[in-house]
Amino acid sequence: MKRYFVSYSPEGIGYEVHTAACRHVAPEAERIELGYSLNCYEAIRKARRHHPNVNGCAHCCPRCHAPKWGAISPGASLAANVE
Ligand SMILES: [Zn+2]
Repeated sequence: MKRYFVSYSPEGIGYEVHTAACRHVAPEAERIELGYSLNCYEAIRKARRHHPNVNGCAHCCPRCHAPKWGAISPGASLAANVE
């Protein structure tokens, strides 16, 4: 289980999910805590309750990072393959 946050991405066109340890995560005042999740797919599902356009960080959540924003569709089969 890792702790995840969602914050606005200056390089992207929306919001990105990061782990607590990622150096790209926004300062405390500019991020929303998502709590502990089993994997980045679950974290993205939670983040979408706050922002519809969410991507995974390319650095800390590469398996949830879509080059094309909005292309991620977390599913049970995908989630089963990650830690
Ligand atoms: Zn990150």
